[in-house]
Amino acid sequence: MLHNLGSINLDHFYRVPHLVHPGETLASHSYQVGLGGKGANQSLAMALAGGQVCHWGRLGRQDGWARDRLARAGVDVTHVELVDEPSGHAIIQVDDHGENAIILCPGANHGFTRRHHEALCETARPGDWLLVQNECNALPELLECARQQGLAIAFNPAPMSDTVLALPLEACQLLFVNRGEAAWLAGLPETSDARVLLEGLHARLPATATVLTLGREGAWYQSGSERHFQPALPVAPVDTTGAGDTFIGFFMAALQEQRSLPDCLAFAAHAAALGVQRPGAADSIPSRDEVERFLA
Ligand code: ATP
Repeated sequence: MLHNLGSINLDHFYRVPHLVHPGETLASHSYQVGLGGKGANQSLAMALAGGQVCHWGRLGRQDGWARDRLARAGVDVTHVELVDEPSGHAIIQVDDHGENAIILCPGANHGFTRRHHEALCETARPGDWLLVQNECNALPELLECARQQGLAIAFNPAPMSDTVLALPLEACQLLFVNRGEAAWLAGLPETSDARVLLEGLHARLPATATVLTLGREGAWYQSGSERHFQPALPVAPVDTTGAGDTFIGFFMAALQEQRSLPDCLAFAAHAAALGVQRPGAADSIPSRDEVERFLA
């Protein structure tokens, strides 16, 4: 089983003629609400890939539909609690030129306490995976608790922030980073060659395996002296939001099936390539069947 302690957000999309000016009241052309948050997207992707995933999350009581959506996809939602707090949410304006402006409110995603960490560590069996992103609070305590319990930790430090640099990252078995996150962690320029970034990460965290995703430039896996490269599939992207989340969910599902690392990378890259050809994040994640047909 993989335990994903992660954010669940409600994304409120407003199409507007222009981004709202200070003091202005502006009518939107349209409004849509969707499931979001890196944690929820990654759990959804892993379940759609056929993986066994238990999500640990917090949602406002009125937003139980988001939990139902995860459950319908096959995510174990036993530990998604409904609380008397606002759910994490994003207010997203998109103007006629595709420009956007976003307010992100962490809400209930920032209400994790020791009680949650202890419950997770008691429920998980040694050797189970814990997956974490950087959208929830109290991560140092969670990583420490998981390390003591002998869980294998996979960490995706997105969205990157200074607080990540203070985390006990050496407790992680696996890191999922994009170019910007890798450069930040390795203390190198973002323009560095991928191999230089991988060497920098290895120097900083020699015992941690890394998956470095590079958008349409593909993805690398590195563990010690072992390296594999997976090219991105040549597709025409419509919306690359959530490509990283889809990649991570499918990679972890394949790893859970003990497939080879090149197979895990290929499965994940095909899933992400299908996802970028559709609009949205959660809504763009393909099913396992679609990915297998694409791979065949
Ligand atoms: P996000 O934060 O939007 O989820 P990310 O920066 O974490 O994305 P990327 O490195 O952009 O993640 O993409 C992850 C993977 O998705 C890539 O390694 C690649 O396999 C696939 N991918 C992304 N963009 C494209 C593209 N334009 N064409 C084909 N595959 C893509």
